[in-house]
Amino acid sequence: MSDERHGDTAEAREPRAVDELTLYGMSGDLWQLLALREELIEVRESTEAVDADILTYFRGLARKEDGVVHVLGQLKAQERLAVEERDRLEQRAKSFQAKREHLEGYVMRVLAQLPEPRGGGARRLEGETASLVLARNGGVEPLEVYDESLVPDEYCTFTAELTSEEYAACRRVLPESESLRRAVRYADSKRIRRQLLSTCRTCMGSGFNAAGGVCANCGGGRTEPVAGARLKGRGHHLRIS
Ligand SMILES: [Zn+2]
Repeated sequence: MSDERHGDTAEAREPRAVDELTLYGMSGDLWQLLALREELIEVRESTEAVDADILTYFRGLARKEDGVVHVLGQLKAQERLAVEERDRLEQRAKSFQAKREHLEGYVMRVLAQLPEPRGGGARRLEGETASLVLARNGGVEPLEVYDESLVPDEYCTFTAELTSEEYAACRRVLPESESLRRAVRYADSKRIRRQLLSTCRTCMGSGFNAAGGVCANCGGGRTEPVAGARLKGRGHHLRIS
């Protein structure tokens, strides 16, 4: 994204004062800004300028009585319509599928009642341009495990969630184990959270080192760090009442 393009957009917008815009016009411009912002993110350009523009628009909207609330309401209504449309289409697809399966089942029952072909092969009804054939399913025969608890261990594989200590112990016993090497590793959020909430042991929670500088372990955060993880704070949500 070149600076030129953003410049164009800014220029095209400027002559219109926020107060003169209808809500629709204004929201139209807002969508353009939001789209532009997404493009900037995609090409990893700074969104600072467009963010400022967006903020200006929101301030403008807020000046209009309930402007933002109105736009949010419109969006919500459109979202609801889209969901309803999706549900309707899903229902339609299901109905077509049911009809097809019903007809297929009927044809298969008819085919199954035909006498066995003399030369062997599949039962079929020949048409002018196509024929209906009762074909045997390919591939392996389907397997049903109707009671897993009855299957002996030797016919089972095991996946387990191991703590890092248990995993290390297993690796010591079975250092060559391919399965252990392939074991899925994931961050244990419970342990990470506990660590991130515990007092920094280097500065005992003061945030400073002996020389009065920032504690190198916690960076002044006063709690133990975990590489690659951080607590983000509880955040906020928008409620319209
Ligand atoms: Zn510290």
